[in-house]
Amino acid sequence: MKKVLVLEDEANIRSFVVINLKRAGYETIEAGTGAEALEQLRRNPDIKVALLDIMLPDDMDGFEVCRRIRASNSRVGIIMLTARTQEMDKVTGLMTGADDYVTKPFSPAELTARVDAIYRRIGDGEEPVVDDAVIQYPPFLLNTRNRTLEKNGQRVKVTQVEYSIMKLFLDNPGKALSREEILSSVWGEKYYGELKIVDVNIRRLRLKIEDDPQTPKFITTVWGYGYKWGF
Ligand code: CA
Repeated sequence: MKKVLVLEDEANIRSFVVINLKRAGYETIEAGTGAEALEQLRRNPDIKVALLDIMLPDDMDGFEVCRRIRASNSRVGIIMLTARTQEMDKVTGLMTGADDYVTKPFSPAELTARVDAIYRRIGDGEEPVVDDAVIQYPPFLLNTRNRTLEKNGQRVKVTQVEYSIMKLFLDNPGKALSREEILSSVWGEKYYGELKIVDVNIRRLRLKIEDDPQTPKFITTVWGYGYKWGF
């Protein structure tokens, strides 16, 4: 079963989300507070995607829930539900480890498209067996079988989105990739989010892989176009 966690304190919005996800073939686990959401994740390790509302009544907001999930789990897909439209919210959410965000009010089609996109990328846990399981680009080593990244032999905790971006770069070293190309390759052709999500994810990835994120030498910027692996 394709399990999705829905954290939303407003019962009517939560049931709107749940009904539409069920209609799209997902099994839903509901939570009304951050603490409940974390408890449900512990109880249901097979949850693949979590939808997290940001504004919650108790002292833990959606950002904090996201941060706590990411502290121990880099594989679950996280989509923030935000009622506000400030860029800051979106950036904060992505920087705390979310993969995507949906701004309220959203249509059922938009919601399920976003969940489908994340779900497809994470897959159902059955990785295809490939022969060249390891891509080496010293000091990096990308293991495509278990989707992990190492730098100098040390594991770097990356989200599935960050992993996909790394793979795209290492498959195309030295090639300038436009932001549109990165978006459609990592988020899928049908994704209709904003290009900004590419920049924020790259900013986050740089913090994890660059020696000095302020002067990146692995993921370099191609001004007015996109990004490139190396110089
Ligand atoms: Ca709320």
